[in-house]
Amino acid sequence: TAKQQGKAGFVRYVEGLGEPVLAHMQLGGELRRALDNDEFRVVYQPIMRLDDNQLVGVEALVRWHHPARGVVGPGEFIPAAERTGLIVPLGRFVLRETCRQAAAWLAEFGPESLREAGLNVSARQLHDPDFVAEVAGALADSGLPCERLVLEVTESAVLRGQQVSRALHELDRMGIRLALDDFGTGESSLSLLRAFPAAIVKLDKSFVDGIEIDDGLPAAADARQAVARAVIQLARALGLDTVAEGIESPEQVTALRELGYTVGQGYHLAEPMTADGVSRLLARRAVSNHLS
Ligand code: C2E
Ligand code: MG
Ligand code: MG
Ligand code: MG
Repeated sequence: TAKQQGKAGFVRYVEGLGEPVLAHMQLGGELRRALDNDEFRVVYQPIMRLDDNQLVGVEALVRWHHPARGVVGPGEFIPAAERTGLIVPLGRFVLRETCRQAAAWLAEFGPESLREAGLNVSARQLHDPDFVAEVAGALADSGLPCERLVLEVTESAVLRGQQVSRALHELDRMGIRLALDDFGTGESSLSLLRAFPAAIVKLDKSFVDGIEIDDGLPAAADARQAVARAVIQLARALGLDTVAEGIESPEQVTALRELGYTVGQGYHLAEPMTADGVSRLLARRAVSNHLS
């Protein structure tokens, strides 16, 4: 596919530089230039209710519109952006853009149109002593209410010590909702949930893959469903919301609903799209609500 070719092309480009370290530096320089040149864009993937396909939120995902290589996905440049520290200004851009866009949607389509907008935050950003103030600034400048913002962090990022923990608790106190991303893939998911002020757990795609396959075993013995089942039980006990990630088929929706999941995200429900794409979804829903 075009996407695979684009990715392969990009990897080749970096490898062509020879020394890995050199490649990193080169990519770091390219990212700096790209940031100055406005080459980053934010797309939004809808997060949907599983019973009636109503949109409840969106997740912001960054893309690099490279002048020669076309659209480059975050897997290709986020690691380098983290190593070079450029994730801090890049993350600031995503934060401000998402808050601005979410506030615009709420203004145009009303407070019921979108419950929340989420974005990914890496450990390096949480280490930045200015991060909490930047979030507060983005909310104030956009007018987005703090309870409409979700910050997604991974387990490994959360495990990075005092400064990160302090920042997360401060964000929580401000009323911002924190989501544990890729949940279940980290090393100490369970103990983490007690220490960390999470409002949402996002069940990792790897536990959604294969969940629809019936092994013919009694439900409780079905290893394919074991993690998804444990996570929903834990979330309920702790009063957390859940989002099942990477849903690619209607059969997976059925299996997840049987386990008790009510909200999900994935190509089967909706792919990441431009802000205009989300606006069209919201506009269509506004019309159908009006008619019904
Ligand atoms: P994530 O936060 O877990 O985001 C979900 C990823 O899964 C996205 O990939 C999304 O396009 C993809 N996805 C969604 N539904 C499906 C599906 O049904 N099947 C499959 N195979 N994939 C699906 P994307 O956009 O390539 O992002 C990859 C990762 O890059 C994200 O994983 C996140 O960790 C990171 N990332 C993206 N944007 C940002 C950002 O602005 N800042 C930071 N720090 N990280 C970001
Ligand atoms: Mg995420
Ligand atoms: Mg995720
Ligand atoms: Mg993931």
